[in-house]
Amino acid sequence: MGIRTGKEFISSMQDGRTIYIDGERIKDVTTDPRFADACQTVGELYEMQHDPKLIDKMTFKSPTTGDRVGTSYIIPKSVDDLVARREMVKTWMDSTCGMFGRSPDFMNINMTAYATSWKAFNRNGNNYGDNLWKYYEYIRENDISMTHTLINPQVDRSKPVEQQSKDLAAKIVKETDAGMVIKGARMVTTLCAFSHELMVFPSNNIAVSEEAAPYAYAFCIPIDTPGLKFICRPSVIHQNAASPMDFPLSSRLDEGDAMVIFDNVLVPWERVFIHRDPEMCNSLYSKTNTMRHTMHQFSTKNLAKSEYMMALAFRMAKSTKIDVHLQVQGMLAELIQYAEFVRSCLRASEVDATVDEDGVYTPAEMPLWTVRMMFPKMFIRMCEIIQIIGAGGLVAVPSYAELKGEVSEDVEKYFESVNADSPTRIKLFRLAFDSAVSSFSGRQQLYERYYSGDPVRLAGMLYNIYDKDPHTDRIDEMLADLEDRQNPVGSVTAFKATFD
Ligand SMILES: Cc1cc2nc3c(=O)[nH]c(=O)nc-3n(C[C@H](O)[C@H](O)[C@H](O)COP(=O)(O)OP(=O)(O)OC[C@H]3O[C@@H](n4cnc5c(N)ncnc54)[C@H](O)[C@@H]3O)c2cc1C
Repeated sequence: MGIRTGKEFISSMQDGRTIYIDGERIKDVTTDPRFADACQTVGELYEMQHDPKLIDKMTFKSPTTGDRVGTSYIIPKSVDDLVARREMVKTWMDSTCGMFGRSPDFMNINMTAYATSWKAFNRNGNNYGDNLWKYYEYIRENDISMTHTLINPQVDRSKPVEQQSKDLAAKIVKETDAGMVIKGARMVTTLCAFSHELMVFPSNNIAVSEEAAPYAYAFCIPIDTPGLKFICRPSVIHQNAASPMDFPLSSRLDEGDAMVIFDNVLVPWERVFIHRDPEMCNSLYSKTNTMRHTMHQFSTKNLAKSEYMMALAFRMAKSTKIDVHLQVQGMLAELIQYAEFVRSCLRASEVDATVDEDGVYTPAEMPLWTVRMMFPKMFIRMCEIIQIIGAGGLVAVPSYAELKGEVSEDVEKYFESVNADSPTRIKLFRLAFDSAVSSFSGRQQLYERYYSGDPVRLAGMLYNIYDKDPHTDRIDEMLADLEDRQNPVGSVTAFKATFD
């Protein structure tokens, strides 16, 4: 089959999926006003793959079928492949201002990276690694959109999952000849309304014990699998907006987030990748290079996002000529630094990529960890800068619909600024409001804080994996050297010892 068209993607969303929002079950995500526009956005991403100007960037020829498949499924065999993959991701991310974090490239890269380490999943005499490789080929050849869930519900975070008094987390309740049966809940499934498949993998450490084993699994299943229910948060789309220009991002880029409930869901054995194996769950990131590839994808998202916020701020500052003021230039320079920082780290990760025994190239880890840890603060500051330079103007522009309303003459006249006519200024400041102030922006800020894990525990993880020995050794050597030199100041022997 190879790459899907936008139309094919949209019609493929009309299945028997069970999605709830605002107290009702959604009949059709392609037409429901809370989902339809974002569904269209994903369709547009798929359609871009067919654009003759982009096809060579967005796709490559499948090694098995020769069909065109998405570049985000490529197994990188050179630094050039990493660059090509980044350029593909950047093209999608630029089209959504980096605000559609879980566009399908995210999971494509994640699952491709797991698949390159498929051998590690063939443990204890099972063939789960073979399942994983076959699954990778299936998603690549069918251009599958995926949501994923890694986290147990927030019930009692002071205790491990197997010691909870309320046993709500999804777990294996039974095995049959056909597969394993899962019951319980997981969070958060962003993009679930616009996905074909759900990926369920572990994230936090699991105790190596009989009691914890039912929570130690990994699998993928179709979104419309019987017993699978998604309960979404309310949409951030402003249903009463007079014009889509009033909330230009909210109206087309709400990915949607949900809890997923497994109501005795049967997972066929051929879709199982880990089964009752806490050790494998706990060593997932050390046995595979998945995190490094995934960080490469989301750092590219961060580059697109920071370039967009910088461009927006430049245009706003120019519109009212506040860019003549030194402190405004200082904030604009800060936005330049953020974009250039992310770009530099990404490039460093590619240049310093490592190659494994199978010839697979993986971006260097530390430049990407640095982006991962610093970007949440940077994005929140970017929003703050847009608020500071937009000031009262962010709430003193009307709806775009006012340009055609009763007071249109006043609107044409009084909303003009030195470098923007009224329609431009209204559009620009509504865009700024949606980027940095609206509930859409609030969700983006929350997303940046948490989408790749809890920053507190991530910081601990970074500290623990960082190679500290050369640095502590250096200090020890320096102390020894200083001690050796401790002769009275001015003494001739001290100079002799230093310069001989
Ligand atoms: C917008 C958005 C979209 C998301 N999309 C997805 C998705 O598509 N798929 C997915 O799998 N996940 C997704 N996530 C979930 C994300 O992975 C988690 O939010 C993140 O891992 C943090 O876990 P938590 O939310 O359960 O927070 P908690 O673990 O409950 O933490 C809450 C607070 O308590 C503190 N805390 C809790 N436990 C500890 C501890 N043991 N030690 C120290 N401090 C602790 C944390 O530091 C934090 O401040 C998304 C999250 C957001 C906000």
